[in-house]
Amino acid sequence: MTSQRTRDRLIDKLEKLGIKNQDVLRVMRLVPRHLFVDEALSSRSYENTSLPIGHGQTISQPYIVARMTELLLEGEADLENVLEVGTGSAYQAAVLGGLVKNLHTVERILPLYRTARDLLYDLGYRNIWVHHADGTWGWQESAPYDAIMVTAAPNEIPKSLIEQLKIGGRMIIPVGEKKGEQVLQVVIRRSENEHIIKNHESVVFVPFLQEESK
Ligand code: SAH
Repeated sequence: MTSQRTRDRLIDKLEKLGIKNQDVLRVMRLVPRHLFVDEALSSRSYENTSLPIGHGQTISQPYIVARMTELLLEGEADLENVLEVGTGSAYQAAVLGGLVKNLHTVERILPLYRTARDLLYDLGYRNIWVHHADGTWGWQESAPYDAIMVTAAPNEIPKSLIEQLKIGGRMIIPVGEKKGEQVLQVVIRRSENEHIIKNHESVVFVPFLQEESK
């Protein structure tokens, strides 16, 4: 159920669903998704579905992970400094960690942050820094970023995130209040005061938390 063959089958499916970036497919073939979910769910970890990870949160659907990563890599330059908001299970972070030079990822929920940090360390990732913080404010210490990926849906794009993008940098973010009405957006920062937004497919994400949580 958690063998390389099962994982390969999922990756073949992602390719059939339209994922073209071979680097994304190569890395997703390597990351053991079953280690990012509770053991009780590991037999379902290579299905193309999101799964609960506790605290009302989910590990994203593999197709969405692949699609968002593909959109992030569409810019021409190599990505040296990247921010993810919403570490969750850290699966998306692990996929990004195999593709970019340095990744900072922030998570608001303390137990999820701790599990993610320890798991990434145990798996040998040394280019991913997990932070316990409210991603509404991005992660100023390591800004500006070549790219930002947000894996929870706010009603509006937080201003700080745009400000922490390099000029020419891009952000992938699901935006929208209600489930079923969220759309995946690519934001490209053109200059100090100008950015453009491109809409992609509609998506279903957990809400971006903007108030104090436990
Ligand atoms: N990338 C994750 C997806 C997890 S779901 C994965 O691969 O598993 C989204 C995550 O975003 C949740 O863990 C949630 O707690 C976190 N989140 C939501 N709002 C946030 C905020 N304002 N700052 C930081 N993390 C946030």
